[in-house]
Amino acid sequence: MKYDENNIFAKILRGEIPCKKIYEDDYVLSFEDVNPQKKTHVLVIPKGKYIDLDDFNEKASKDEINGFFRAITLIAKKLNISNLNGNGYRVISNIGEDGGQEVPHLHFHLIGGEKVGKMIQK
Ligand code: AMP
Repeated sequence: MKYDENNIFAKILRGEIPCKKIYEDDYVLSFEDVNPQKKTHVLVIPKGKYIDLDDFNEKASKDEINGFFRAITLIAKKLNISNLNGNGYRVISNIGEDGGQEVPHLHFHLIGGEKVGKMIQK
């Protein structure tokens, strides 16, 4: 599967569509989800062009992988939802059709700020 240059997160990365930015560095951009499922719901995306987590793990450099995963905790701490300075949160990354992925650019959902509830609803 080829990376779609016109997916909505690619447009956000290029500055063509606005976002409510939470954090940015060389490796990631984090912004609020437009349709928050809980009090805190942000997305973390790599700056590189990766479709999903499997694509990322197969192609990304060690620095990109390190930068991406470390940023998650950094952002959670910034939002005071980390277990280090808050009450915890849930990380979700949907992959492909069965995973329910809608936007084909790797993203992790960070969801918290209140009880998130059961993991999977039938
Ligand atoms: P997924 O189903 O894992 O691909 O999730 C895609 C997420 O992107 C959903 O939670 C949407 O609410 C969110 N989303 C879609 N468009 C935007 C946007 N322009 N800015 C912020 N979040 C968005």
